Amino acid sequence: MRNAQTTLQRPLSRRLMPLVYALVAMVGLILALTWGALQVQITLAGFLNGESLWSKAQKQSVIDLDAYAVSGNAADIDSFRRNYAVLDSDRWARDAIASGSFDHEKVMQAFERGSVIPAAIPGMIFILEHFPSAPHINEALRAWYSTDDAIAELAGIARQLQAAHAGGGLSGAELTRQRERIYTLNNYIGPRTNIFSLEIALGASWVSEILFGSVLAAACIAMLLWLRMARRILASVRGTEERYRLLFDSAADAIVMVDETSGRILDVNRTASIWTGRHANELIGDRFVHLFVQSISGQQAGRAATNTLLGLGGIKRPVETQTSLATWGNLPVRQAIIRDISERVAIEQERRVAAEALASIVEGVIIADADRRVISTNAAHTDITGFTSVALQGKRFDESRRLPDGKPLPKSIWEDIAAGRNWLGEVQSTRNDGSSYPEHLSISAIRDTDNQVLYFVAVFTNIHEAKLHQHRLEHLARHDPLTGLVNRAEFERRCSESIALAERERLAVVVLFIDLDAFKIVNDSYSHAIGDRLLVKVADRISRQLSESDVVGRIGGDEFTVLINRLSLREDARPIVNRLLATLSEPLIVDDYEVVLSASIGVAGYPLDGTDSATLIANADAAMYTAKTEERNTFRFYTPMMHADTRRRLQLASELRLALSRNEFHLLYQPSIELRTGRIVAVEALLRWQHPERGEVLPGEFIPVAESLGMIRRIDEWVMQAVCAQIQVWDLAGMPPIRVAVNISARWFGHPAFVDGVSRTLQSRQLSPKRLLLEITESAMLRLGDDTERTMRTLHGLGIEVAVDDFGTGYSSMAYLKLPAVAYLKIDRSFVTGLPGNANDAAIAEAMLAMSRSLGLGTIAEGIETEAQHDFLLRAGCAEGQGYLYSYPLKADEILHLLCPNQPQFPVSKLRLVPPKRS
Ligand code: C2E
Ligand code: MG
Ligand code: MG
Repeated sequence: MRNAQTTLQRPLSRRLMPLVYALVAMVGLILALTWGALQVQITLAGFLNGESLWSKAQKQSVIDLDAYAVSGNAADIDSFRRNYAVLDSDRWARDAIASGSFDHEKVMQAFERGSVIPAAIPGMIFILEHFPSAPHINEALRAWYSTDDAIAELAGIARQLQAAHAGGGLSGAELTRQRERIYTLNNYIGPRTNIFSLEIALGASWVSEILFGSVLAAACIAMLLWLRMARRILASVRGTEERYRLLFDSAADAIVMVDETSGRILDVNRTASIWTGRHANELIGDRFVHLFVQSISGQQAGRAATNTLLGLGGIKRPVETQTSLATWGNLPVRQAIIRDISERVAIEQERRVAAEALASIVEGVIIADADRRVISTNAAHTDITGFTSVALQGKRFDESRRLPDGKPLPKSIWEDIAAGRNWLGEVQSTRNDGSSYPEHLSISAIRDTDNQVLYFVAVFTNIHEAKLHQHRLEHLARHDPLTGLVNRAEFERRCSESIALAERERLAVVVLFIDLDAFKIVNDSYSHAIGDRLLVKVADRISRQLSESDVVGRIGGDEFTVLINRLSLREDARPIVNRLLATLSEPLIVDDYEVVLSASIGVAGYPLDGTDSATLIANADAAMYTAKTEERNTFRFYTPMMHADTRRRLQLASELRLALSRNEFHLLYQPSIELRTGRIVAVEALLRWQHPERGEVLPGEFIPVAESLGMIRRIDEWVMQAVCAQIQVWDLAGMPPIRVAVNISARWFGHPAFVDGVSRTLQSRQLSPKRLLLEITESAMLRLGDDTERTMRTLHGLGIEVAVDDFGTGYSSMAYLKLPAVAYLKIDRSFVTGLPGNANDAAIAEAMLAMSRSLGLGTIAEGIETEAQHDFLLRAGCAEGQGYLYSYPLKADEILHLLCPNQPQFPVSKLRLVPPKRS
């Protein structure tokens, strides 16, 4: 790889130097060997040249001598002498060298005289001196030596010839002889000269071969050595490179080499590829800044900077980059080491979150050392205690805390924590201003690896408010929030305690059950707020009549219970009960109203009427019920019979649920009489429940139960349907059309679908609204408030009239009487009963009649039982009346026969019609 090679450039050059040196040495050696061989070749050339000159001189000398012998020319003998001098000079030099001690200069000059190449002379001297026995040299020299005498003899012949020619010439025979001698010598020298030449040539050839072989061998050896050395160095270089690459790639950090000038990536390691999700080939050449979310161009070399590395699929990895500058050859390169700091960032994030959480939690937090000396606290701590973190530093946090009983925190706390448990508890802590407050404290420890406590962490909350709240809750759990009296559960608990005590001391315990008479009416007539204030006053009055040891409870809306302790007999409670009745019947002033109430009280005592609290309360309740139903404003001691009544009521409730489906209801109709004429002008539908076992049940008994069960609306609707059906039947039978009054409960009257239901029923029977009179009790109208007015207006719009039933019992607002639909007042029976003797009743009745007259309303007096009542009311101006004096409630067909006397099967009834009294 180019880049990797570049990376290795400098160290590699150093490492390759031995190879270069070796190469130079090898080339030098070959050059030296070649030079040596050249020198030898020159020497050999000199030898050959010398031999050639020598042979030529030897042959020429023979020719010259032979010519001289024949001609006697001086030129020939001179030529002979010159050639001979060459031969003689060479021989002398040879012999001088062979002698072993010679004048190098003279020998050189001798060879030069023999015309040997001067460059070859030193080599020749060297060989003759050192290698005379070398192959071919030895043979050549031997051949040379063998010619010495013959050549010397040629010189003798020359001298003889010279002397002969100087003496007058040669004879023919002499000439012939001399010439033969010359030929003989020539023949002798010739072959030896050839041998000499041959051996010199062979020697030169041999030496050349030897030289070539030596140079070749040396070159080969040098080459081999160089190659071996090169291989070893390259192997080591390659090994280093691989190790480097391995290190580079296996680095845990991403390493990126960047061209500083262009900002482009030159090389990346494997970690960089993995983190970026891109192959190295893709990364190389890309811009370094493209690896990150933010630019890091401004980062200084050597400085760490944090950044976000972009990974495959947009994954972002928080990293820290550290760069350093280097040069690759002439190329400035930035090496970037990118470290994954995800874990560090996560830890820092965690730490930051933890620190912020610590600062923002509402609990106070203290971090202390192993000696419990404060190191730091959070903001909530300062808020709660008033101590700043600095003020507490070095102080022991347990010193400002005590156990709730005032004792210092015990050692066992620290032992527990040292044993690896957390300590949780309530302590009393002191604030900066010296005040103290209750604290819920939890202490835990942070340990080192040897399980030694390093720090304590204390977390606390101020539980002052919580404790107050808890006390309040506990009080609420046991007391009635309105009156502050104990509630049923607490009353029962106290009652049980008293019974246990009375059992030990053989005493009696009495439970009184007090129920306010007609409180419901007060509640409905005024506002609930007034009702509540009334109950508070009643609670106060009851409490005043009792001693400290007695307990008063409120266990229902207007139901109070009293526990009287330490009596000898149940009957000992009688004076207290009488006092209670008296105080409760006194008028109560609430806001601007004066309210007169009374109460019914049931009395049950331990051990006579029960041995546990629940039984005593239930029996006192039964006694109260009896008191209320029998008389009101009185009390009754419990008798077992009463309980049967209570059970009967409960039974009634469950049976009532089935009454509608079993069709056990029916209607009776009580005529309403025009007092002046005795004429029946209307009837009032009165509901009866024909119980399969108990016979006829009156509405006074089951209607309150139906109301409490939420069934009354369905019952009223049934009555409405039945009444309308009955009117239709009467009409068909030809009965004179009379008004029919229907009693409507508050529950249905207040229902949004009420008016619609009534008008739909009328329409379905095609009845005129005038045929119907809706009776709504005064208290029901009051209870419904604004809804009453709205409903009244709608009814009026439909032409339906309303009578205010039981008028005078409901503390009513007279404003209701002015509502458009209201057409009649029904004076309650309670005001009629006392007539005419009771002056109060008489005054009230007269006032009511006067008022209704002035409002233009009709009046109907209820419950007229005597002639005297009839007379009084008639005189007082009452128009209509109902009562047993005229008729009991009758069955529908009895009404029919009453109004249509001609009808067959007229029954003999107990009906009494009062004849009209004419004034
Ligand atoms: P109320 O509407 O005031 O009805 C008059 C009650 O007085 C009737 O009692 C009637 O039988 C009784 N009564 C009439 N004349 C005399 C009399 O001369 N002397 C005495 N002592 N009583 C007389 P009843 O039928 O027991 O009804 C009681 C109450 O039950 C009714 O009082 C009415 O408020 C309610 N009620 C009756 N029928 C229905 C009904 O169908 N629906 C609803 N919601 N209430 C009904
Ligand atoms: Mg009525
Ligand atoms: Mg009535």
